[in-house]
Amino acid sequence: MQKVIEKNVKTYMNYINGAWVTSHTNEVSSSINPANKNEIVGYVQSSSREDLDAAVSAAKQAQKLWRKLSGASRGDYLYKVANKIEGRLDEIAESMTKEMGKTFAESKGETARGVAILRYYAGEGMRKIGDVIPSTDSDALMFTTRVPLGVVGVIAPWNFPVAIPIWKMAPALIYGNAVVLKPAQEVAVTAAKIIECFDEAGLPAGVVNIVTGPGSVIGQGIIEHPDINGITFTGSNEVGKRVGQGALARGAKYQLEMGGKNPVIVASDADLDLAVEGTISGGLRSTGQKCTATSRVIVQADVYDEFKEKLLAKVSELKVGSGMQGETWMGPCSSENQLNTVLSYIEKGKKEGATLLYGGERPMENGTENGFYVQPTVFENVKNEMIIAQEEIFGPVLALIKVDTLEEAVELANDVEFGLSASIYTQNIGHMFSFINEMEAGLVRVNAETAGVELQAPFGGMKQSSSHSREQGQAAIEFFTSIKTVFVKA
Ligand code: NAP
Repeated sequence: MQKVIEKNVKTYMNYINGAWVTSHTNEVSSSINPANKNEIVGYVQSSSREDLDAAVSAAKQAQKLWRKLSGASRGDYLYKVANKIEGRLDEIAESMTKEMGKTFAESKGETARGVAILRYYAGEGMRKIGDVIPSTDSDALMFTTRVPLGVVGVIAPWNFPVAIPIWKMAPALIYGNAVVLKPAQEVAVTAAKIIECFDEAGLPAGVVNIVTGPGSVIGQGIIEHPDINGITFTGSNEVGKRVGQGALARGAKYQLEMGGKNPVIVASDADLDLAVEGTISGGLRSTGQKCTATSRVIVQADVYDEFKEKLLAKVSELKVGSGMQGETWMGPCSSENQLNTVLSYIEKGKKEGATLLYGGERPMENGTENGFYVQPTVFENVKNEMIIAQEEIFGPVLALIKVDTLEEAVELANDVEFGLSASIYTQNIGHMFSFINEMEAGLVRVNAETAGVELQAPFGGMKQSSSHSREQGQAAIEFFTSIKTVFVKA
């Protein structure tokens, strides 16, 4: 909790029932720049359950009218929000970079993606939401239609402060739900700026609300709230399980997107330059803090040395620094906590006997000493049973694993509890299809990095990575609506 407030730093409010309001606690927490821990980006409300109750009650009322609007009218609002965000793209991207560290170019890309997602779902308001099913009664008409869930609670992580809240809120809204957003506290300033755009677009009061505060209070409150009909969560497995169990216990619908331990396989016949490029971009962009980030690199023995050499040459050129500096390729970890987690995994890797090939330290040059920086890190001689090959590190750490055959490569790739994304680099069509068939992952990619799935395609994982209902594209309708089967006898 922040007791002393710096006067020149803005305090952001909750947005409840169309108004910006302070929390009942009268307490705020500060959002810190991970590139410079002495810089406070903004203050955000440390809310209580009372604030959440007010937001849910407003959403419940507002949803009654919102659901009655046509899909096209709801879409018009989403187009307006998209235009507002686009008009403030640089400002929102700067806020993102300053709150969680990714480079300004990546933040701009993510914000532009948020705009594109809103426009995509605005269009969905005009598309079909049901089917006619032939009845055995020739005098009857039987069809399905879809109805909204009611109030949807959105619990979002810090790693995609704009894209993830939007890819949950946009489908929720287009299909007629009202929303209460609880962003990760670390990136709540950026989330508040997004909600400002909803406000400026003139959505009816109560349709969209934001309540900021600790996960243990507001997130837990969403899990337990009897008037929240659906919960869409992205974050860690630990919290995801809690969300799933809590929602199930009271009969609410839930959707979980959680961790990954994503492999890339480099076959003997791969284009090695492309594989190196994809491994670096997939593994180290956003400082490895993507659920789809490459973390295990499984390489066939006959090209291993050449691949390694090319990889290390490129990794050693990556410029680490503040995301606001144009020449920076990789920013800091998002927080001190995250930095310490990454450093502890690096120590575990060393202790388990993996060979540290590159990085592993905190860089201490170019003004990085006040930030939560770590070097891009590469291990080799990694065994698949080692902790660094099994647990999600969520940092810029690549583990190289050498194998003789592609069968062995796929077997190791599948030998983790996660199943989010996986890719193979090969020019052999037979290898491509056996990988596509055998890989236990929701996102399977060929000659493309593990990250970077297009917004109109279903997104989600298998095994411990996901609750299996998909986000993004037309697949999102499954979570955000219920099917009603209608039978009409003439
Ligand atoms: P996290 O710690 O699980 O937090 C996620 C959200 O849950 C935050 O808003 C957090 O709030 C809230 N929360 C914390 N404790 C809670 C509780 N007891 N009850 C309800 N909500 C609670 O995850 P994170 O560190 O933000 O994000 C990193 C994780 O997200 C990684 O595991 C990553 O793989 C995963 N991720 C998955 C995907 C995907 O699509 N599969 C995409 C991106 C990220 P506070 O932080 O404010 O406390």
